[in-house]
Amino acid sequence: MLGDIRSLAMSGHQSLGLLFRYDRPPMSASDSVSVSWPSLFVPTYDAHLPPLNLRNSAGIEAVDSSELFTMYVCGITPYDATHLGHAATYISFDLINRYMRASGSTVRFVENITDIDEPLLERAHRDNVDWIALAQSQIDLFRSDMTALHVLPPDSFVPATSVMELIDRAISRMTENGFVYRVENDLYFDSSSFHKDLPVTMEEALTTFGERGGDPDRVGKKHPLDPVLWWANKNDEPGWASSHGFGRPGWHIECSVIALRYLIGADYLESSTGDFAIDLQGGGSDLIFPHHFMSGAQAKAILGKPFARRYVHTGMVGLDGEKMSKSKGNLVFVSTLLKDGVDPVVIRYALLKDHYQSDRMWSSSSLDQARESVAKIRSALSREYVRATDSVENQIIAALANNLDTPSALSALEAWAQEVDAQPHQKGTGALSRLLDGFMGLAF
Ligand code: ZN
Repeated sequence: MLGDIRSLAMSGHQSLGLLFRYDRPPMSASDSVSVSWPSLFVPTYDAHLPPLNLRNSAGIEAVDSSELFTMYVCGITPYDATHLGHAATYISFDLINRYMRASGSTVRFVENITDIDEPLLERAHRDNVDWIALAQSQIDLFRSDMTALHVLPPDSFVPATSVMELIDRAISRMTENGFVYRVENDLYFDSSSFHKDLPVTMEEALTTFGERGGDPDRVGKKHPLDPVLWWANKNDEPGWASSHGFGRPGWHIECSVIALRYLIGADYLESSTGDFAIDLQGGGSDLIFPHHFMSGAQAKAILGKPFARRYVHTGMVGLDGEKMSKSKGNLVFVSTLLKDGVDPVVIRYALLKDHYQSDRMWSSSSLDQARESVAKIRSALSREYVRATDSVENQIIAALANNLDTPSALSALEAWAQEVDAQPHQKGTGALSRLLDGFMGLAF
């Protein structure tokens, strides 16, 4: 798949050994927690908040806000960041992060970077560039896009390449627990005991597994759905030394290990309390199967208890009536919009106009409408005397608490802005501005 070594050798690398063989990760673990983007000022807003109700895989549930809240959101594979689908997903989990913090919880938020995976290597090969340089450039772009969109940074933003030793130990634990087998030199996860919890039918699972990086037809596997844990090195691919042989990890195990290590702690294999490993696992709805199912099953195979208390998924963003996808070549990138001079608040506003869990369509009019609304709201917020804001503030909080109903929150805001001249009897809009900035990341 990576194919022709000669074409890569001609790309300016002096040594194939340097390009393809790593005895240690190219980025150290200590770097992993420092590559997050800059922190943002979050204004405080005093109010009694209702519990946050979220629709998760088990229905709508209130989130207990009394203590530590651990949240893991699957990050990017750094080769096509950041399209509007990514942006919509990270803004949605940002709302959860902001609401839980405002409710008094200590939020521990971890996001990974899938910086070693087939699609990344394939893209690097196609474009004749070094995969590490490609990943780094896309991670940098993602960080600047997230900063512009006012997404609060994760506490740990962890590249998969920084956790090879942790993955090695986790696979050893899974082997002791009886979940690992070998096909030739590759290691597979025995997923059979988890199939009773499949989120889709077995027939759908088999199709989707094949479409999303799985190898259902490989001869020698115990079950077609079993995912790879550790690929033995193939001639021209990057690899790492491990007690399971020289190679690289499968996709799902990266997330299981990063979530457990950075949300529970370095000693998670020895000590972990509670009924579930973490409070929330999140990502786009395209990750429900196989990725979240498999990373959750693998985490359970490591720790012996369920992984996430709740799974929350965001809808997909389409363009002009079509699915937005790499293969169609119709991805809209945040960096392109920013380069074209689009105000990042307008992008964020446009994405919040639709419900985070519905599949939605993007078109150029999405930005035009958001631009118009943002201008009206800015003008309303800047007046010295306005209509009272208590009611709209309460409406916005109630809408957010109701499974992040941002369309209702913004409708209430637009209605307030529309009638701002009627009976102006309140001086200033400070509280409303702080609420919009603090809870919705809309700094007008
Ligand atoms: Zn993941």
